[in-house]
Formats: sequence, C-alpha cells, structure tokens
Amino acid sequence: MTIAIVGAGLGGLALARVLHRNGIDAVVYERESSRDARGQGGMIDIHSGQRALHEAGLFDRFQRIARREGQDMRLLQPDGTLLLQEDTPADAPLDRPEVDRTDLRDLLLDSLPAHTVRWGHTFKSADNSRLHFADGGSATYDLLVGADGARSRVRALLTDARPAHIGQNIIEIGIPDIDRTHPDLAAMVGRGNYWVLGDGLSLAAQRNGDGRVRIGLSFYRTGEDWFATSGIPFEDPAAARSRLIGLLDGWDPRITALIAACDDTIVPRPITSLPAGLTWPSTPGVTLLGDAAHLMPPVGEGANMALLDGALLGLALSAHPDDFPTAVSAYESEMFERTAAAARMSADIQKLLTSPDAAQRMLAFFQAG
Ligand SMILES: Cc1cc2nc3c(=O)[nH]c(=O)nc-3n(C[C@H](O)[C@H](O)[C@H](O)COP(=O)(O)OP(=O)(O)OC[C@H]3O[C@@H](n4cnc5c(N)ncnc54)[C@H](O)[C@@H]3O)c2cc1C
Repeated sequence: MTIAIVGAGLGGLALARVLHRNGIDAVVYERESSRDARGQGGMIDIHSGQRALHEAGLFDRFQRIARREGQDMRLLQPDGTLLLQEDTPADAPLDRPEVDRTDLRDLLLDSLPAHTVRWGHTFKSADNSRLHFADGGSATYDLLVGADGARSRVRALLTDARPAHIGQNIIEIGIPDIDRTHPDLAAMVGRGNYWVLGDGLSLAAQRNGDGRVRIGLSFYRTGEDWFATSGIPFEDPAAARSRLIGLLDGWDPRITALIAACDDTIVPRPITSLPAGLTWPSTPGVTLLGDAAHLMPPVGEGANMALLDGALLGLALSAHPDDFPTAVSAYESEMFERTAAAARMSADIQKLLTSPDAAQRMLAFFQAG
C-alpha cells in the first residue's frame, strides 16, 4: 500500500514522520528543488501543535529550538501609548513558544529516512491511482494526501471550494542584524512580539532567531487590487518605504522609524482563506491536510492545525494499516470538527483586528486570558 504525500510543509512532514515511527513508509513529493530552495519565513508560535511533536517523538528536540522569550508581547496604540507589556520569566512554561519555521521543518526533515522526500516533483494531476508531475513523470499510489498548502492542486479532487480574499493585504519587510545596526529599535521591539494596532492598519514586528526583526504591515478592509492601487512603488524599495511611512499618517515617529530601518526586501502578501467549516464527502484514496484543507486567517492557528492533522492522520493510518478508507474517514471526522472551531476562532480574532478600536479590543482579549 503506497501512501503519497504531496507537499513537504509542516503538515506533510509530520504525517510522514508519524507513519515512519509506526513502521509505515510514505513518499513525499515536493515541488521545491531542495530544502534550501526557498526561505521558509519567520517565527511561528506552536501551542496545540506541540501534541504532534510528542506523537512524532520529537518533543525534546523541539524544546531545544523553541524560543521561550519569543512569547514576550508589547501592545501599543499608533500614538506610541504602551497598552500592555508581558515579559516571559525564565522559568515560564513553554505554552506558546516561538520557533523558527526553517528550524522546525529541518527537525522534521532530519527525522525521516533519506529519499522519503522526492524534491523537484510538482504535482499536476491524478487519475486511476497514478500521480502526474509537471515534468511528465508519474507514480502510483493507494492513498494520496494533499498537503500542498494554500493553493493546493490536490484539493480540486475533493471540493470546488477555493480560497477567497479576506480584505487584508500584508507587506512584509524587515531589519537585519538589529542589535548591531539599530540597538535603540532592538530595545523598543524587545525579545518577542511588538504589535501596534490602528484603525484599519497594524504593524506587527517580531524578533527572529537570526537577529532579524520581521515586520508585517497589515492593511485591513482593502480589496484584492489594493497592491496595484496603493501607490507603493515596489520596484524602488527606498521610495516604497517612504510611501509606507506616509500611509501611517499620524503614527509616533519612533514606530515609523522601524520602517525606515528596513532593508530592501519587500514582500506583498494578499491574504485569502477557505470557508470556515469546509467539508467534503469522504472519498477512498484521497484526503487533504493543513492549509489545503482549511486555510484560515493568519492569526496563529494554521501551522498548529497542519502539524496536528499530519500527526493524527498518521495515527489513524497506523491504527488501520489494512483499511485506509476507515482511517481516512475517522481522521476527517475529527479534523473537520477541530479545524472548524479553529477557523471560527481565527475569524473572530480577524474581526477584532479589523475593527476601528482594534488596540483596545485586543487589550481586553489579552486581559481576559
Ligand atoms: C504571514 C503568515 C504568518 C503566519 N504565522 C503563523 C503562526 O505564527 N502560527 C501558526 O500556527 N500559523 C501561522 N501561519 C500559517 C501557517 O504558515 C500555515 O498554516 C502552515 O504553514 C500550513 O502548513 P502546510 O503544511 O499545510 O502547508 P505549507 O507549509 O504551505 O506547505 C505546503 C508545501 O507544499 C508544496 N507544494 C505546493 N504545491 C505543490 C505541488 N503542486 N506539488 C508539490 N509540492 C507542492 C510547497 O512548496 C510547500 O512546501 C502564518 C501564515 C502567514 C501567511
């Protein structure tokens, strides 16, 4: 029985690892040409997903790469008023540690036998228990798992649902080596998260393990065409930074100084999601996990859900190694319910961030525990 996983992201790799731990081989087909072919982004906070790392037998190693102090939080208004500062004590529990996405992916990759991941294989289509790749190659499968992320191609085998823009556009920028280049800004941002929430826009700065501070500028209540109409000259990074500072009209100059200090990497990221509570009729031979199954607003659930999906599907298949349909059906029942709840919670937080008094409402949310 051949299990083919499309996508070597966190979810696909967690599945491959839990299967391997239970004596079941799987093949992971990944379109990237190698593990280093593309940057994996910054830090992610891992909370419910920690269970997946236990099931994968990797929790001890996870603790070594997790940044406890990454849980620190500073919440401000655009005028510079500090509403909340939470500094993580050295002996605090690792409830929601931050981890570098590359480190976490490497941890999973290194836990798999060589050749489990077939790099440079872009899934194109599937029929009659055969996968077809963009380069003309093909491979057989008994179970196909689409772990191919937000723009999943495998998804179309199960549902017509497609991600839709949620009225948020993010611009990612960053300050490299901040301790050396801008020690004053480094002290202002602190060791973890630094959030400034305004009316219809926010700045989320976060210290990464490599000394870079990643900054996400979110523009809410904006349409799909916003990047084209915003007047941001992406081809001229210095002018783009000036334009961004101009868009933060009336913000405290200490906050906009963060933008002025950024390097020339500017990444526009339109935000989309699938409908909360998406399901499909269980179909023998194919299933989905992670963003492919339940892409949600980026408020800290997606990677956790992807890890859990992978681990729980791995456990279900290990419990029914000769009956994949039963395993898939059991996995999907649990996954639909769990991720629908996470998607609804994410939508609620998203609504809060979009509101005109986002800072006060987020303060109340944090204070409510
Ligand atoms: C700005 C931002 C910040 C976020 N922060 C957090 C956070 O703090 N906490 C959190 O829990 N979540 C966070 N998320 C969400 C999280 O990143 C995703 O939910 C998570 O990565 C999903 O994992 P995945 O394995 O489903 O997909 P991915 O990690 O997207 O992996 C999919 C893999 O499939 C491969 N692939 C795609 N198409 C094909 C194909 N046709 N053939 C072969 N391979 C293919 C891709 O190359 C990729 O390697 C954030 C998201 C964004 C956008």
